[in-house]
Amino acid sequence: MLKQIYNSILSLVIGHLTVFKHSFKKRVTLEYPEIKPYLNNKFRGKHEFDISKCKACGMCQKVCPANAIDIIKDENGLSEYNIDYSKCIFCGNCYYYCNFKAIKPSNQFELATSDKKSLKVTYKKLENTNE
Ligand code: SF4
Ligand code: SF4
Repeated sequence: MLKQIYNSILSLVIGHLTVFKHSFKKRVTLEYPEIKPYLNNKFRGKHEFDISKCKACGMCQKVCPANAIDIIKDENGLSEYNIDYSKCIFCGNCYYYCNFKAIKPSNQFELATSDKKSLKVTYKKLENTNE
């Protein structure tokens, strides 16, 4: 019984000492969302897609391990480019293998939503242009 009391007090003291020790260290967490994190230039967030550069070659679709890209073509080439962010794992393959620099990462990471359908992003050609 005495040993149990001793062990409890000892754990309590060790716990408090640990907290005390860490209270003088530099913080490693942020008060998110009030403070936004610093993201370096290798961060892989939501894509930026330039439909005018896309040649509808399909390479990004082939190399996507999550099957998140869907390309729809018509007789004029690219008709619709879809990325489903509920599937995307942000591996970066699509822009790494794109020879036309049509797709690249951005720093946008705040994609959480309760509406899964909104995670499917569609880019369409403007009907009155030949892009
Ligand atoms: S984004 Fe790049 S790799 Fe993907 S279809 Fe367009 S040109 Fe090809
Ligand atoms: S980042 Fe990876 S998973 Fe996401 S669309 Fe590109 S290839 Fe697919």
